[in-house]
Amino acid sequence: MKIAMLARNPNLYSHRRLVEEAEARGHEIQIINTLRVYMNITSHRPEIRYGGDILPKFDAVIPRIGASITFYGLAVLRQFEMMGVWPLNESVAIGRSRDKLRSLQLLSREGVGLPVTGFAHNAHDTEDIMEMVGGAPLVIKLLEGTQGIGVILGETRSAAKSTIEAFRGAKQNILVQEFIKEAKGVDIRCLVIGGKVVGAMMRKGAADEFRSNLHRGGRAEAIKITSEERSTAARAAKCLGLNVAGVDILRSNHGPVIMEVNSSPGLEGIEKATDLNIAGKTIEFLEKHAKPNKTKTRGKG
Ligand code: ADP
Repeated sequence: MKIAMLARNPNLYSHRRLVEEAEARGHEIQIINTLRVYMNITSHRPEIRYGGDILPKFDAVIPRIGASITFYGLAVLRQFEMMGVWPLNESVAIGRSRDKLRSLQLLSREGVGLPVTGFAHNAHDTEDIMEMVGGAPLVIKLLEGTQGIGVILGETRSAAKSTIEAFRGAKQNILVQEFIKEAKGVDIRCLVIGGKVVGAMMRKGAADEFRSNLHRGGRAEAIKITSEERSTAARAAKCLGLNVAGVDILRSNHGPVIMEVNSSPGLEGIEKATDLNIAGKTIEFLEKHAKPNKTKTRGKG
């Protein structure tokens, strides 16, 4: 197969591994720098240009679009879809997962377990919102944050209130969330491919840190998850329409709750913690499913 991978940094572990596994399985794979793609979006025959040339037709595209370039990256991916190239994750699904509020609303509609979460525009209702999620300590999240930056623990009522008000004053959109204290700084990352959990690891935050992100000094190890956690992770990926997803779960005293669903999950942590060949499983999935013109949305929506 001829595979395109939309990625900016070819040296990232995840990207190197996907290339390695695709080539080992006899495929041709080209890394395309998402931001250097340009296109005539009004042409009747959609095409993609790159460095002065028209790109050849690919059988499949692996989108690895960083959060900071979501807008342009999704436009590029839609162009591939309009040309009938099969995407590992569809643009519409990635768009849903990039909007924390929208994904929580979709998950909640399907009855997937979530921490009690509030969202409001008006600063007058701060006290009520805090009450709604069970009062302090509570978690305040910037809607646009990634890698744990912009996730704050409001330990007391007054600290939480002033933090919320400060964000409001700075015109930042935030979510206010029940603090899952019983998770003790540990979260579970489940790697879902094609509706099945193919690997899971637990991440533990550094000492005195409630955030378990590896980027914030957390460490990872393999974990055996329960069947409830397995089905929660698979349902979450399905609900957003993602073939491949990294689903983050907290163990709460009201069952597994989803924190986030990531559409370009990193492979380094999970492969090293579990010794599993996740990149290989990804390419295997793509081999089974990539057919021309099989994109459900073909760039619509
Ligand atoms: P990001 O998308 O920036 O990684 P997350 O929402 O995943 O933000 O939060 C980062 C980390 O903070 C999580 O991995 C988890 O360890 C911790 N965390 C987030 N929300 C809660 C919560 N409601 N209760 C307890 N811990 C939380």
